[in-house]
Amino acid sequence: MNFDSIVFIVTLFVIVPSESRVLEIKSDRCEKILGSDLIEEIWSYKNVKDDILEYVLEGEFKGKTYDELAKFVDKFGARPSGTEVLEKSIDYMIDLTKNEGINDIITEEVKVPLWERGEEKITMLEPRKKDIELLGLGKSVTTPPEGLEGEVVVVRSFEEFDNFSDEKIRGKIVLYVPVFTTYGETVPYRSQGASKASAKGAIASLVRSITPFSLNTPHTGSQTYADGVVPIPTAAISLEDADLITRMYDRGEKVVLNIKMSSKLDENKISRNTLIDLKGSKHPEKLVIVSGHIDSWDVGQGAMDDGGGMFVSWAAPVILKRLNLTPKRTVRAIFWTAEELGLIGAHAYEEAHRNESHNINFVMESDEGTFAPLGLAVGGTPTTLCIVAEILKLFKSINASTLVEEDNPGSDITVFTSKGIPGASLHNDNGKYFWFHHTEADTMNVEDPDELDLGAAFWTAVAYIIADLSIDIPR
Ligand SMILES: [Zn+2]
Repeated sequence: MNFDSIVFIVTLFVIVPSESRVLEIKSDRCEKILGSDLIEEIWSYKNVKDDILEYVLEGEFKGKTYDELAKFVDKFGARPSGTEVLEKSIDYMIDLTKNEGINDIITEEVKVPLWERGEEKITMLEPRKKDIELLGLGKSVTTPPEGLEGEVVVVRSFEEFDNFSDEKIRGKIVLYVPVFTTYGETVPYRSQGASKASAKGAIASLVRSITPFSLNTPHTGSQTYADGVVPIPTAAISLEDADLITRMYDRGEKVVLNIKMSSKLDENKISRNTLIDLKGSKHPEKLVIVSGHIDSWDVGQGAMDDGGGMFVSWAAPVILKRLNLTPKRTVRAIFWTAEELGLIGAHAYEEAHRNESHNINFVMESDEGTFAPLGLAVGGTPTTLCIVAEILKLFKSINASTLVEEDNPGSDITVFTSKGIPGASLHNDNGKYFWFHHTEADTMNVEDPDELDLGAAFWTAVAYIIADLSIDIPR
């Protein structure tokens, strides 16, 4: 969307991703766009919103989202794409939902990869012996059993790298050391670094973990080998080890590493997307989707990424059912599978349902943490932004009224918003999200019961209001 052409004014910048903008709605412009009847209609949901908040924050549902998430995470732990444990965790969520008296549940099969991490070890041989903390990146190829030995070339940016000759890189280990600014700006060094290094003849590539903070914890993540390049082993190392090697390199010292990595890849596993419907009373074919992904990386427990997001989305139909609230349109909770290896479940859903995509009224996703909710990051037309901004005003009491405009909010749902379907990602107080992201430290200790209650209540009430409005969200 062209920023200049719309009617909002910028008040603040937020940190992730770089293209997002926190906006304050110019109320007179939105008033003109919406009209007094629609504004009045939106405000008529104040009581039902209060009921939902009270039920979750002080009533019977208080603490439930955290408790259920903890039971789930403690039982299954990490849930990588293609594993049996992921499939068992999907079955568990279906049973948990049926126990709530919700039986409109469908699973849809998706072909997914299984990438299994084996032994991983990096040893610095020169200028002194030291073990280096690493995590292989998704789908990385293996090294020979004895490892690969090579001299390190430190690279601060792709611009710098593009100016390096092939001779400087050939036979070397490339270490990218971008300083974390935003995830969106920094993550290409992880996702594309191996391909770029291989194109100039490197034998392996490493990346300084994509995080602003570290307790010597490496962060894994996905990466893709470009067509036509020789796939080379690739891993993330801790900030501490990356910075140590960089200091040595800058002093002119020769840094030599031995990299040993093993893994197995099977591209032909079957997993499932899970669809849970609270059917609409008037337009059951029209959907307001709330979603998160059920798979996780193999390290950590997937409590934050994305157990929390999945559970606030699970909570939406459950809370509405418990409160006997049936909106006009269907509220569909979706647990995407195989997000981490490339939004695979979301792409499969989009393809399978393309001929009915006009029925997606609004698509929501929580995959950037479930810390205290602050509002929504929204992609859509100026009218859509005005409608959502007006709805968000109802959440001043819990400090969740901020609208961030983003062309393509979220991760899985970008598959839909990039095709013009309006949607929103949970905007939350997630300044520490990337401290834990894709590490062994993604555990229940990151999650907070009260913040999860706020998130579940907010998510449920927003989904209800949008699903019940007299008008569709415009495209
Ligand atoms: Zn995620």
